[in-house]
Amino acid sequence: MKISLAILMKIVFLGTGSTSGTPKIGCNCENCRLAREFGGIYSRSRFSILIDDGKKILVDTSPDLRAQFLKANLSGVDLVLITHTHYDHFTGLGELHGRLVDFWALPDTLDYVLKWFDYLRKESRIQVKVIETYQQYEYGKYKIQAFNVMHEGAPTTPVGYIIQDDSHKIVITGDTGSELPQKSLETMKNPDLLISEGTFFKESIPKIHLNVDGAIKLGGLLGAKETILTHFSHRNKPYNELNKYVQQFGNFLASYDQMTIEL
Ligand SMILES: [Zn+2]
Ligand SMILES: [Zn+2]
Ligand SMILES: [Zn+2]
Repeated sequence: MKISLAILMKIVFLGTGSTSGTPKIGCNCENCRLAREFGGIYSRSRFSILIDDGKKILVDTSPDLRAQFLKANLSGVDLVLITHTHYDHFTGLGELHGRLVDFWALPDTLDYVLKWFDYLRKESRIQVKVIETYQQYEYGKYKIQAFNVMHEGAPTTPVGYIIQDDSHKIVITGDTGSELPQKSLETMKNPDLLISEGTFFKESIPKIHLNVDGAIKLGGLLGAKETILTHFSHRNKPYNELNKYVQQFGNFLASYDQMTIEL
């Protein structure tokens, strides 16, 4: 009998929508109609991801964070990492007011966020740490590394994150176009799991967002064992159709809100 000593890492896709969420206010496209009528997998809140193996790491603080935490029965997290300072990725940070939490980000991101949340600056329970891209930092048994991405128009330097322990390497792209720096592509190589944005289905917005085919291509290029797509616009396909499409390429899955996997 083979006994595996690897500890399972749980990943919760708390929010899988893009900037407006699905349904979008006032929109009557098919996706938004399905989301209004059926909710569940058709409805997408804004982006955040939880990695949990006892220590909880939250990547991005969605404006929908409160509802996401209540749904997932979460009472707090240990570390918050921010990919970039678009509204849909950080404005839920205020929900963590009064909680003991480590908060890491690049210098310009940290500055920007703490200007928004001035009261958190004085909050001793928020432990701030400035990080730099391509440096590896230890957090308990995790090694964490930020890498530059291509997301034109972001108010501060946009990054993705690599989170690894002895048995897993997880790469989270954050928001990015396909034009990633070579150094990032090298750093991201051979992940056990790539969590890639795939905002649009076939639409292309160079240097800002990937579409679904772009995310599939990136998974192949990096040699990812598994790729899960997330950060979907209401203009993308409804969940079932989208998941069927990505699965035909092999180890690819589309995420939905509160989807939980174990690695
Ligand atoms: Zn976004
Ligand atoms: Zn819509
Ligand atoms: Zn963005």
